[in-house]
Amino acid sequence: MRRICILGSTGSIGTQTLDIIRQHPDKFEAHTLTAGSNAELLIRQAREFNPDTIVIANEDKYDLVRDALSDLPIKVYSGAQALCEVVEAAPIDTVLTAMVGFAGLPPTVHALKAGKAVALANKETLVVAGEAIMRLAIENRCPILPVDSEHSAIFQSLNGEQHNRIEKILLTASGGPFRNCTVQELQGVTAEQALRHPNWTMGAKITIDSATMMNKGFELIEAKWLFGLPAQAIEVVIHPESVIHSAVQFEDGAVIAQLGTPDMHLPIQYALSYPARLPLPGARLDLFSLGALHFEQPDTSRFPCLRLAYEAIARGGSAPCVLNAANEIANFRFREGGIGFMDIPRIIEETLARVPFVPAPTLDDYPAINREARLVAARLTGSLKK
Ligand code: NAD
Ligand code: MG
Repeated sequence: MRRICILGSTGSIGTQTLDIIRQHPDKFEAHTLTAGSNAELLIRQAREFNPDTIVIANEDKYDLVRDALSDLPIKVYSGAQALCEVVEAAPIDTVLTAMVGFAGLPPTVHALKAGKAVALANKETLVVAGEAIMRLAIENRCPILPVDSEHSAIFQSLNGEQHNRIEKILLTASGGPFRNCTVQELQGVTAEQALRHPNWTMGAKITIDSATMMNKGFELIEAKWLFGLPAQAIEVVIHPESVIHSAVQFEDGAVIAQLGTPDMHLPIQYALSYPARLPLPGARLDLFSLGALHFEQPDTSRFPCLRLAYEAIARGGSAPCVLNAANEIANFRFREGGIGFMDIPRIIEETLARVPFVPAPTLDDYPAINREARLVAARLTGSLKK
């Protein structure tokens, strides 16, 4: 029995993780569930899964949640600090990080220091502090199991290959809803259009990141840290069908890939059950109805976020943290309708230029760098007229 803590149980990844736990009650137990502000769903989940502990990060919702569950022996906490404390509970085996953004970093640090296995969906953690997080995992002998579908595909393609040299990683990308748009068209696209992803249903922030291709930039940085490769050895391949979830090329030229339908249940379940595979119902890949698979080069003139991510990871230090913080602000402001789609990379690039560069930040430095970069990006978005 693996006891799981889900950080962000009410979101897209969180609810799909609970689907897996529901399917395998003999294998997994929901020990701790946490949410940002969605009190109603967290209450329903607590009634169904009867966890030991829950956290509602938004303190205004604490009374509501506590009162609704007063007939059950569930411990209820609130606030960001509580997230860092609950992950350390002795019975927890695996912490699945499905919160959005920088907020996922502090509880992940606590989970690793407490010796927990981390099933990592919150890629922003590795974007901001990949080097420090991987070091912490090694020091504390904690596995980090990828939940992101591309990284799970790479991880699966590496089974049994520990001693073999990787020549490169082929990181596939759907290209998002605007794959075929011209720069001029991209200038006019709305958040509503960007939120309609062709292949995946995900939370709002990552859906916008997929449309700008910042998501792929983040995944490039995530892959670098997870698999210990230089960024130049990771090639982004646009593959609109999202069937090949990514691949690894070895030094004899062999390319090993993992294929499947676009469904996050598989990578989530594999991160929890590894090294075993468990039955998983759902659609199966039908190569005959698919007919053909397509591949294209990414175009960084239309999707500059991808270039900015390559540049930030090449620069290192605080640059990826600033990249992430500026993107969080710009992504949010675009969703609110405050800025245009092509303003997103502009704000990020300008923020990277303005925030003082820290060559070798420690984990303690990131909150201040994050705050400063968010302030600069917010000022820049405020000065823009749409
Ligand atoms: P989501 O918006 O659907 O859910 C986010 C969850 O985190 C919710 O439960 C929310 O209440 C909680 N949360 C958000 N901000 C919080 C805060 N400040 N404090 C505490 N809790 C907070 O997002 P999602 O699509 O499930 O994505 C979660 C993470 O997984 C992201 O880092 C994303 O990049 C990554 N990811 C998602 C997918 C996907 O298919 N959705 C795929 C790969 C990776
Ligand atoms: Mg992905």
